[in-house]
Amino acid sequence: MSERTGTKATTPTTPAAPADPADPADPADLAGRAERLDAADELAAVRDRFVLDDVVYLDGNSLGALPAGVAPRLRDVVAREWGELRIRSWEESGWWTAPERVGDRIAPLLGAAPGQVVVGDSTSVNVFKAVVAAVRMAVGPRDEVLVDAASFPTDGYVAESAARMTGCRIRPVPAAEMAAAAGKRTAAALVNHVDYRTGRLHDLPGITAAVHAAGGLVVWDLCHSAGALPVGLDEHGVDLAVGCTYKYLNGGPGAPAYLYVRRALQPHFDSPLPGWNSHRHPFAMEAGYRAAEGSARGRVGTPEILSLLALDSALDVWGGVDIEAVRAKSLALTDFFLECVAALVPAGAVEPVTPLAHADRGSQIALRRADADRVMRALIDRGVVGDYRPPDLLRFGFTPLYTRFADALRAARTLGSVLEGSG
Ligand SMILES: *Cc1c(COP(=O)(O)O)cnc(C)c1O
Repeated sequence: MSERTGTKATTPTTPAAPADPADPADPADLAGRAERLDAADELAAVRDRFVLDDVVYLDGNSLGALPAGVAPRLRDVVAREWGELRIRSWEESGWWTAPERVGDRIAPLLGAAPGQVVVGDSTSVNVFKAVVAAVRMAVGPRDEVLVDAASFPTDGYVAESAARMTGCRIRPVPAAEMAAAAGKRTAAALVNHVDYRTGRLHDLPGITAAVHAAGGLVVWDLCHSAGALPVGLDEHGVDLAVGCTYKYLNGGPGAPAYLYVRRALQPHFDSPLPGWNSHRHPFAMEAGYRAAEGSARGRVGTPEILSLLALDSALDVWGGVDIEAVRAKSLALTDFFLECVAALVPAGAVEPVTPLAHADRGSQIALRRADADRVMRALIDRGVVGDYRPPDLLRFGFTPLYTRFADALRAARTLGSVLEGSG
């Protein structure tokens, strides 16, 4: 029996003692508050849907934790669907239509009605499809693709090639200036919804409206937002969007990405990678290409069935989860972490670079520190896993489905001990 249980059991009639005078080591009662916040957390039980241990895992924005249902599902997919049914599974196990079916399961997290999201290929490949298709759909003589200047690099690399292939040039613009930069030469704009380094959340409704007003199309990269906050693709009239599924959607390493094409644009979506999977009649094996209708038009080749079905199983963790509640917890967690850092880390030892305003914050906290690389290695050695982004950022991702307030406190406390005396 623990000391605590014992005390409780032997003193049932003692009147409640006045609250302890503040613990000198914890004047703000961070430990008590973490405990109460976790006790009141309506998403707390969702953590049990994951395989986790004592590590404080704050890297779910890079590789989401393993949902408990994935391993048994994959065993069945391999042993029965592949091992026994073999080729029959394309039909009988629903393999052929899984890209659209799994896309429809992701759609609610993006604020998208069914029939507009398809899963397959990597985010990089989907950026290519989306940017080329956007330029091809743009009306009038337009020769410029605006690219978020702080973009995750792959988006910029791919957009540059896509622009070159379509007779355009890319113009890097900070996302905050994208709305003002869009003009009559703008065919398309490619923007990251959340900056992967700073955690800044960009203005999706405002930028979308401004690019539209200028006559261009907008492609949003949702890698660091979908699954952490409401996106509202349909509500805000977004044209195209892409995102990966191994971050906040916990699909596993290399899980296939998704592509959203607004329904009204689907008939005009002219894929630069018109593989046989997006043919209207793939099994007719026609010599000429005729595009499928609907989201299937975004497919290319044979779907990655094993990783796609791992993702399908991973999406079960969202059952009964409201994305608004996820957002509320994400903001509460990141607020609490910032407060713990301010209280427990020597003054001036780190500089928070993530915006304090909720409207501008994604679901991570980035702290600047010249030797961030060394500090993150020390944190990982002590069981607190975030990551390092060159040249000087410590990145802590908060995944509301399984991160506890106690984890935020322990991360800040460990950071404080690592930086104690190091200035
Ligand atoms: C993680 C991430 C990617 C990853 O692209 P892959 O093709 O899956 O490697 C792309 N863009 C952004 C903004 C990301 O955060």
